Amino acid sequence: MNWRSAAACRSEDPELFFPLGEDGLSRRQIEEARAVCRRCPVMGACGAWAVRNGERDGVWGGMTAAERRTLRRGRVTGSGL
Ligand code: SF4
Repeated sequence: MNWRSAAACRSEDPELFFPLGEDGLSRRQIEEARAVCRRCPVMGACGAWAVRNGERDGVWGGMTAAERRTLRRGRVTGSGL
């Protein structure tokens, strides 16, 4: 995972990327994490790694765990997501 050395979140509080849920008050935290991801030069590599490795928690590559699960399901079923 050599892309991690360029990660924008290296200078952020790691807690920001691990909300307790994905709705309610956690939505704001997720959007703050996504804002960091959007300016991250390795967003694609990070997201791909998290999907490929089945990372179950947190925001990776601008995606929540639920979004990654949806993406994985699409790949498995061949829907093209
Ligand atoms: S995409 Fe987001 S979680 Fe991934 S390395 Fe960049 S800032 Fe960190």
